[in-house]
Amino acid sequence: MQMEELVALCRRRGFLFQSSEIYGGLNGFWDYGPLGVLLKRNVKDAWWHDMLVGHNEQKLQPGAPSLYEMAGLDSTIIMHPQIWKCSGHYDLFHDFMVDCRESKKRYRYDHVKGRWVTGLKHGEGGEPAAETRVFVTTMDTENTEDALKERAAHFFGLRKKDLDSLVWEGPLTDISALDDLSRVLGPDAKHPGTLTEPREFNLMFKTTIGALGGEDDAAFLRPETAQGIFVNFKNVCDSTRVKIPFGIAQIGKSFRNEITPRNFTFRSREFEQMEIEFFCYPGESADWYRYWRDRRFKWYTDLGLASEKLRLREHEQAELAHYSKGTADIEYAFPFLPEGDFGELEGVAHRGDFDLRSHMEGKLVREGDRLVLEKGPDGQPKHRGSGKDLTYYDDQRKERFVPHVIEPSSGADRATLAFLCEAYHVDSVPTAEKKEDAQRTYLKFHPRLAPVKAAVFPLVKKDGMPEIAAEIYGELKEKMSVQYDEKGAVGRRYRRQDEIGTPFCVTVDGQTLQDGTVTLRDRDTLQQWRVKKDELMGELTDRLGK
Ligand code: ATP
Repeated sequence: MQMEELVALCRRRGFLFQSSEIYGGLNGFWDYGPLGVLLKRNVKDAWWHDMLVGHNEQKLQPGAPSLYEMAGLDSTIIMHPQIWKCSGHYDLFHDFMVDCRESKKRYRYDHVKGRWVTGLKHGEGGEPAAETRVFVTTMDTENTEDALKERAAHFFGLRKKDLDSLVWEGPLTDISALDDLSRVLGPDAKHPGTLTEPREFNLMFKTTIGALGGEDDAAFLRPETAQGIFVNFKNVCDSTRVKIPFGIAQIGKSFRNEITPRNFTFRSREFEQMEIEFFCYPGESADWYRYWRDRRFKWYTDLGLASEKLRLREHEQAELAHYSKGTADIEYAFPFLPEGDFGELEGVAHRGDFDLRSHMEGKLVREGDRLVLEKGPDGQPKHRGSGKDLTYYDDQRKERFVPHVIEPSSGADRATLAFLCEAYHVDSVPTAEKKEDAQRTYLKFHPRLAPVKAAVFPLVKKDGMPEIAAEIYGELKEKMSVQYDEKGAVGRRYRRQDEIGTPFCVTVDGQTLQDGTVTLRDRDTLQQWRVKKDELMGELTDRLGK
């Protein structure tokens, strides 16, 4: 599938628009259009329902070590700045970036990828050609090899047909693997050696609280929703009657000043997260980790990401954060990534007692196999915690402890994008429907995710058909998202609905006038059958599921 086609469809049919488009757009920010907002809301609603509202705490879930409870939360985007100091985001939440002195562009160090290439380069002022070896780079992840060839052709002044004279070495790597950047041809540069040494860059957006605006009033837009859950752990325990094990779920906006936002909504600067912090007994945490890893993976497959493009990847020991006893990523092979590459949809992490302890004691670091308070040069704690008691007292076991935490952390925008990519299909149209186009494009969404569940058409705009169709539309509208369409040939109307992923179309035709039945048509099988008007709601709700 060509990503450009999907991006064009998303724009054309009102799923996604570049933010601030009429002012030239704002890189890394996206607006969801009328259909996009329905789709993303369905993704979030499915998560909220399946993880929280629909969770039956009386029933043992398959694979779960015991019964458990779930609670919801909606914490603020701007929180006390000390939270980010204790969580580690203030000191550690950074990426390395390089600037290009020539193009004035800034790139994330580990995103600039390329290969070594040697060839004859003609001097600029008519000097003789000399053998030159450069590390040619690109930011184009979709057509990396082609883009590198093009960059090399440009640099060596070759025509496409003469490219064979170049000698390529080594695999595709990012420039963070190189010892020195002096022979690197930056992604937008004409000359090698224009990239600066990498520098750290904090990804948190800074803002100011109140009118005075001094450094003491500085605050940050949250880079993740999780910390809002940790700092409310005690509030939730005290105000509800939840007992460990239990989880707190939250959906909300997060902000990261990504250096190189790209790949449509995959890496945005403003995005939404769906996060759970699951609090459990330390001795059971390994079992809960496995439970959540498998449960979250299944959630995606149940909603249609069932192909080999989805995978669960357990992190190697060396990849784990210093406090983590296990992390797995749920990844999807997005079409804009190089062949064989996967992008993260969700991380499921065993976080031990790191977060709650950090908010009690202050910023922690690992010393041997213990977590200890990080000290500043004066020997005092580098960042002090709240000093509040965030331990949990288990009145049955009669013990007090800091719960361990399993964190399934997913991105609503990345999930929505993966569902869009997976749903995108182009097929040739079967003969019966081959009226206008030989090909049909359709989005094969799971019915729960489809932005529009059904469309109602009068076959023609006469004989009372529009009136009946409008009545059916009104009835369905009470229960689900429905569209009414009477413009153009019915084949075209089907095609318009296919393109936005509507699972069912209902057509009022001549026979409706005689026997009160309508034609129901299935988006995926293209089958058509007749249903009594009065039974339509039941038939549709059955077929649409939850
Ligand atoms: P990456 O390595 O891709 O930057 P991450 O490991 O930093 O991601 P987490 O901090 O684990 O991501 O965030 C949890 C989830 O939030 C991710 O799995 C992803 O779905 C989502 N997410 C993180 N950063 C972004 C972003 N810039 N744009 C959209 N979604 C994001």
